Amino acid sequence: MGTKVFIDPGHGGSDPGSVGNGLRECDINLAVSKRVQYHLQRQGIEVMMSRQSDTIVSLNERTNMANKWGADVLVSIHCNSATPAAYGVETYCYQFQYRNLADLVHGKILEDTSLYYANRGVKAADFHMLRESYMSAALVEMSFISNYRDAQLLANKQEGFAIAISKGVLAYFGKGWTDAESTLKPPNSGSSVGGSSSSIDVYYKAYANGIWYPEVKNLTDYAGVFGKDMECIMARLSSGTIEYRVSPLNSNYYPWVRNYTDYAGLPGYNIDRVQMRLIGLPNNQVKYRVHLLWGNWLPWVLGESDFAGIQGKLIDAIEIQII
Ligand SMILES: [Zn+2]
Repeated sequence: MGTKVFIDPGHGGSDPGSVGNGLRECDINLAVSKRVQYHLQRQGIEVMMSRQSDTIVSLNERTNMANKWGADVLVSIHCNSATPAAYGVETYCYQFQYRNLADLVHGKILEDTSLYYANRGVKAADFHMLRESYMSAALVEMSFISNYRDAQLLANKQEGFAIAISKGVLAYFGKGWTDAESTLKPPNSGSSVGGSSSSIDVYYKAYANGIWYPEVKNLTDYAGVFGKDMECIMARLSSGTIEYRVSPLNSNYYPWVRNYTDYAGLPGYNIDRVQMRLIGLPNNQVKYRVHLLWGNWLPWVLGESDFAGIQGKLIDAIEIQII
């Protein structure tokens, strides 16, 4: 069996899906889907997405894409909506005889008890994405956007949902979750921007849309959320000093800040460029790159030799490593 995975972020473009508690379903679905894509690709899985940005794609186009590509697995990612009182996670299969993938994905979500307030179980439904796709398919309703507590999960637990969904897909292929840090091969490794990791760990986090997203370490993950334009960043080292600064869109850099004594950036103002440098660590370098909003990862940058980003282009994620 191959390992081609089709990820379908529900809705998009003129169809936002359900809307509630300040969130649009299409944005949440896309942000989680992009993280699933990222994690699965890191685990060596081939991924195709039904959409990469906030665009409208019909249901027929989606299943045609997956069928034509010959996907082995399809996962459609959604947020639920009902009365404000309804909450919890549920996963759908087409018919119970085809429930294997849904059971695995749902089971991995249940393993992380921070992701839900109620287990609504695996259900069968005659949904287009499940019925018209030739491969094993599951549709995840992560939480209810119409419920206040559930909506907080959708806003703040996107990485958790993405990891759980990825683990479920891997389990379907009989694969376990491999620590991404040990298997990651940075795109430029071997080139002048390569180098192996040092014994110094870097911890960092990103701020967007009124929220500090979880702190990440080295290249185990990226900081930020795909689809959310970044406003501030913070970084610190396990030992030693890192300095960094950011530039608001099309403007001059804010001052350098050091470790977690402050953050770089100003809430409410999007940034387009980042620079980092190490202080008093002559044998190490900081290597970093940023991801363009609705775009790709830009090349790795070393220290102050350059900046990460493109003037005038918003960014939504950052990766940092000390080498
Ligand atoms: Zn939906």
